[in-house]
Amino acid sequence: MGHGILLLLSLVLVISWKNFGKYAVEPITGAGVQEFQSTKGPMLKLSHSSKVVYEFCPQSYYLSRKLYLKPFIPMRWPLVIGVAFHELMNEMYTTCNFSYEFLRRGWKKHFMDAMEKEASAFSSTAGYEEHLQAGYILIATFYKFAKENGYLVRPMATEWTFEIVYQGFKIKGIIDLILQKDDGQVHILDFKTGWATISADKLAVHPQLTLYHWGVKQGMGITADRVGLFFPRKRSVLLSTRTESDHIQLLDEYVKVAESITKEDFHPELGQCAHCEMSKLCPFFKQSQAAVAQPIVPKPID
Ligand code: SF4
Repeated sequence: MGHGILLLLSLVLVISWKNFGKYAVEPITGAGVQEFQSTKGPMLKLSHSSKVVYEFCPQSYYLSRKLYLKPFIPMRWPLVIGVAFHELMNEMYTTCNFSYEFLRRGWKKHFMDAMEKEASAFSSTAGYEEHLQAGYILIATFYKFAKENGYLVRPMATEWTFEIVYQGFKIKGIIDLILQKDDGQVHILDFKTGWATISADKLAVHPQLTLYHWGVKQGMGITADRVGLFFPRKRSVLLSTRTESDHIQLLDEYVKVAESITKEDFHPELGQCAHCEMSKLCPFFKQSQAAVAQPIVPKPID
């Protein structure tokens, strides 16, 4: 009898663990819910990146998120390395194989896969060997730092996806890593494979981290002790904390963006065009360029 109960308990634990990283939760609905859908179409979904795009320029959101237009971006090696590194991390934390050999063996495969995904953006494979080798240095740097600082442990979740209904629209995100450190603290981490880091002031209000902190609280029922950005190239993890008032402030911003999208406010922000990767596909940019190019017709002299 005792053995039977023990067996049943183990089975429940195994099933719970297997599903831990696969949440798709919708815990928040309720009074005062607005419907953020203009017709009978699907419910509006906002992620950190789609909110950023809308705030940068609503027209850019319209072109990329409504019309699904994709700009041609020629140089994407940093993206290839970033995608490959994230995939490798996901595999390592999912399998809990924390040997350096595992990372070295896996790097080439993930690098090749990421390159294939991005193949349309390449006119040649020049630079392939150089970036492949740069990746080996990146994972060696990561491994040494992660081992010395207690990050090579079984995670609570990796690539954890959430999709939460809030005030009549959905907020979604994918979190690279959630783990519990030796001291018992829960950390939510996002890998950044570029060279640039950020200041403490920016980290304290980093909206992506605030969103993840909120998502984990809603979806897992856990208030994480720390949120942070993991910079493997720089051998550093920058950590911060979040409170409920940070959540409220951020959620207000999401509601404002959702309201504007629902009202189909896709006005152009022409002041941003110089930094916009959609400019070649944007009718407002073309119009503004044409207006600038109009020749000045001299007035006839009486
Ligand atoms: S080119 Fe200018 S107006 Fe057009 S989408 Fe980009 S930022 Fe907006």
